[in-house]
Amino acid sequence: MRLIPDTAVTRELGEEIVSILEGAVLPGGDCAACGRQLGDGAFRLSVYPQPTGGVLVTAVHATCGTSNLQHGGLLVVPPGTWTAAGAVITTVKATPSRTWWGGRREQLEETPIPLVIVSPSCDVFYLGRRDGRLITTVEQLLLEGYDRAGAIRFHAAAREDLTVSLDTDELTISPLFLDEYSVDVREGFADMLDVAGGLLLAITHEPIGALAAGEGRAAELERVTTSPHSAFAWIPAESIQKG
Ligand SMILES: [Zn+2]
Repeated sequence: MRLIPDTAVTRELGEEIVSILEGAVLPGGDCAACGRQLGDGAFRLSVYPQPTGGVLVTAVHATCGTSNLQHGGLLVVPPGTWTAAGAVITTVKATPSRTWWGGRREQLEETPIPLVIVSPSCDVFYLGRRDGRLITTVEQLLLEGYDRAGAIRFHAAAREDLTVSLDTDELTISPLFLDEYSVDVREGFADMLDVAGGLLLAITHEPIGALAAGEGRAAELERVTTSPHSAFAWIPAESIQKG
């Protein structure tokens, strides 16, 4: 996909946000002008300033021009398209121990941890404003105490602004003020969850198309888990509602 540069949009959003959104827009998203899938071709961003100071940004086919969301004084916002994927990461804990002859060695304990990755939108974006600066959904979450890559607190206490439930084959995550996201889970997921003591949630603006499709996972997984545009939260197993 290729973003058609627009100086007015760049002036309004700033180069950094344009580049984050450029990566977050995925072919599976919908064009806000014609309603059809964006696909692989060129696209533009349309910006709508909000009375609250934030802005709404939509992706449209380059050939569709701009989206027109104004209808008789009302702004009619199409629902955003989210993507979610499941993965497993491994945490390694090194414990120093002594051998029977008195030598030192490290005992490595590896624990597989379920990771749920959510891209909150790939076509409609709401950017809030904080101290005069536009902030993305992920920045908002980081301000609310979600963890940054490199500073993830595994086994942290449950967040009160996150509701998570587990069905036989589906895990549903509802962060306050955001959408409700779900991923399919395989048999044995509940057991892995019990052994790990919980799961890690990543909300990201990085593209996760391959992860969602189950291909090319390693490269995307590495990018999501190290990106400044990802926010993480530990979800303790006992805080998950079982259906
Ligand atoms: Zn279109």
